[in-house]
Amino acid sequence: MSTESPTDLKPKNYKSDIKPVWCPGCGHFAVLSALTKSLAYLKIPKHDVGFVSGIGCSSRIPAYFDTYGFHGVHGRGLAVASGLKAARPDLTVIAAGGDGDGFSIGGNHFLHACRRNMDILYIVMDNQVYGMTKGQASPTSDPQWPNKLTPHGSGIRPFNPLAIALSSGASFIARAFSGDPSGMSKIFVEAIEHEGFAFVQVLSPCKTFCPEQSEWKHQVKEVFSETTNDSVLAAQRIHSDNGMGKGIVYQSNKPVYRCTYDASIQRKDLIKEFTL
Ligand code: SF4
Ligand code: MG
Repeated sequence: MSTESPTDLKPKNYKSDIKPVWCPGCGHFAVLSALTKSLAYLKIPKHDVGFVSGIGCSSRIPAYFDTYGFHGVHGRGLAVASGLKAARPDLTVIAAGGDGDGFSIGGNHFLHACRRNMDILYIVMDNQVYGMTKGQASPTSDPQWPNKLTPHGSGIRPFNPLAIALSSGASFIARAFSGDPSGMSKIFVEAIEHEGFAFVQVLSPCKTFCPEQSEWKHQVKEVFSETTNDSVLAAQRIHSDNGMGKGIVYQSNKPVYRCTYDASIQRKDLIKEFTL
């Protein structure tokens, strides 16, 4: 990791030398750029960022950052991020992944991370498909969406990530669009500055398996232009939206979970405690 002074940091300084392997036109490129802009805007030193992910196309993102990073196992990014924040509360901890990783195999971690309300930013790049494993329906796919594994659609009602986050206790809930990188960068800034669990669903098209998502640029609208701290009003707004509304829908001050672990405890003493 290079060590520029935080005041000299430009967005490009947060990028590593590793070239993304995403398909040309993938929405995730915009997430990478928007997040580097947000970190540079906030002047967060690179060694103060811990970037964690699960598995999938989008979960490759920590490798493209010149910060500390951890490419975890499927659906477990939030578990690692929570452990990291507990042990190092001074770090800006960011977790990222996709809709398959975060809402299916990692769904349980998502619920409890919202409920725990640790001071973490969680970005889900949602393209309504398992891209890395060649295009199966994910928890956010349209029930009629035809694909190789379920040619007549999955027939299963899609998961509503914002509604689940709200009902599970997340204290910052937003939706961004990779076709609006500057709007997305502003949302990331607010999310990082928020104290508590900040969930940002990014509509991030998969050009390869869902080329029809290029239409999203005509469908996404600035619906949540006013943020509320009223969970009933937020629920009404989320449920009356068609899944294409962007903005920060909900933000409130809730107790933030902080670990009370005594850092002076030695590893050997911990091992002794767990020895049967
Ligand atoms: Fe992006 Fe889809 Fe290609 Fe994965 S398969 S890199 S999500 S365009
Ligand atoms: Mg996906």
